[in-house]
Amino acid sequence: MRQKKKTIKDLIIEYFKAHPKKDIAHGPIVDWVEEQYLKLYKRKPRDPWRAIRKLHEEGFLIKVSKGIYRYEAEAVEQRELEDFTPEQKAQILERDGYKCVSCGRGREDGVELHVDHIKPKYLGGKSTIENGQTLCAQHNFIKKTLRQTETGKKMFIRLYELAKKEGNEELKRFCVDILETYEKYDINGHIRWRR
Ligand SMILES: [Zn+2]
Repeated sequence: MRQKKKTIKDLIIEYFKAHPKKDIAHGPIVDWVEEQYLKLYKRKPRDPWRAIRKLHEEGFLIKVSKGIYRYEAEAVEQRELEDFTPEQKAQILERDGYKCVSCGRGREDGVELHVDHIKPKYLGGKSTIENGQTLCAQHNFIKKTLRQTETGKKMFIRLYELAKKEGNEELKRFCVDILETYEKYDINGHIRWRR
């Protein structure tokens, strides 16, 4: 099996994880990363310092002072529970090419872009670059709204089943009307309703 190529970033993470809760200055880590990289690829890595700054922007490293960074697992976890930082948002937008991942429209099409949690925070979704996606205002709205309508659809399905069992024709018709409206607009199609 081919192993994934170690990147400069991987090496930096490795170093900081091996030295947790220590203030680490520019010199030693760049030296170490250069040495490892040279061993692996027979050439010098490009700008490891930049990769360290980027890890700080992504919330992985704490900046202690100029040129000194620190890694704390608890801080990373805490960071992931908070919202995206402006730097993370910028990186997610850049990765997605400044386009809504759902419809492909961008600012040049006159839409407003949002950075959304793929797995929502209330379900334990983290604020990481991987869990972020670019959505236009419309698709962000649809995503949030459709989530709210799921509860309603499930409720009307249960109510319909109950009305059927009780032979309550009026209540049945009411539920059918509502559930047919869901079908008509293809809302929450993943929740199946059987007549
Ligand atoms: Zn869109």
